[in-house]
Amino acid sequence: MQLRPSIFHQTIETAVSFIYPAQCRVCEKIIGIESVPYVCDTCWTNIDIISPPWCEICGIPNAEGICADCATKPPQYGKLRTIGIYHGTLQHLIHLYKFEKRTNLVKHLGQLIIANLPNDFSFDEYDYILPIPIHKKRLRERGFNQTMLLANHISKMSNNPILMDALIREKNTSPQSSLDREARQTNIIGAFALRRSEVVRDKKLLVLDDVYTTGATVREAVKVLWNADPMEIDVLTLARALNPV
Ligand SMILES: [Zn+2]
Ligand SMILES: [Zn+2]
Repeated sequence: MQLRPSIFHQTIETAVSFIYPAQCRVCEKIIGIESVPYVCDTCWTNIDIISPPWCEICGIPNAEGICADCATKPPQYGKLRTIGIYHGTLQHLIHLYKFEKRTNLVKHLGQLIIANLPNDFSFDEYDYILPIPIHKKRLRERGFNQTMLLANHISKMSNNPILMDALIREKNTSPQSSLDREARQTNIIGAFALRRSEVVRDKKLLVLDDVYTTGATVREAVKVLWNADPMEIDVLTLARALNPV
């Protein structure tokens, strides 16, 4: 019998954790068999879930009504909502998941989204979940699109189909995380292209991304998607950096 790599990997990790006790990757406490790998139960429950009030449009916390940024320059999406603040445990977990390829974390991160949906948000409103695509070269290097895996998990729980290949990453841009605010904005221009735009026409789309930092990626994706005449575009992200550089 051949074990699938992910199951094999998890089995080995479980076995190793008996011999070499693991440390919580956030607080470094020795942990046993916790409900979420790499993180103790205390750190997991300390994830900063965003709660109201937030800007009705961009979802930034601690804003009443519409924030000054959205009032000055309204975004092209209807509304953007985020599950948690990008720091502490959530930042550690996303880093492990995305850059250290601990893909077994996807079910926990997906579950975190499902369990903490904002009170003014419902999956029922959307025809498709559209995960932000990564360039095929980056896909080859990383081995997976972290947002696509999250979308897969959410899609199973919410019964919303995923729309793949309608929006593609045409330009292999420098990683946004390596750039400052201004450079992110110019770096991402022209990164996306539409394919099969007829599938998007008159549809209600939920764009999904893992981390919202300056919003440059989401803004560019939404701008390109409007060229396909959808009815509505909203955005959901797992984490949001406050005060990004
Ligand atoms: Zn901990
Ligand atoms: Zn706003």
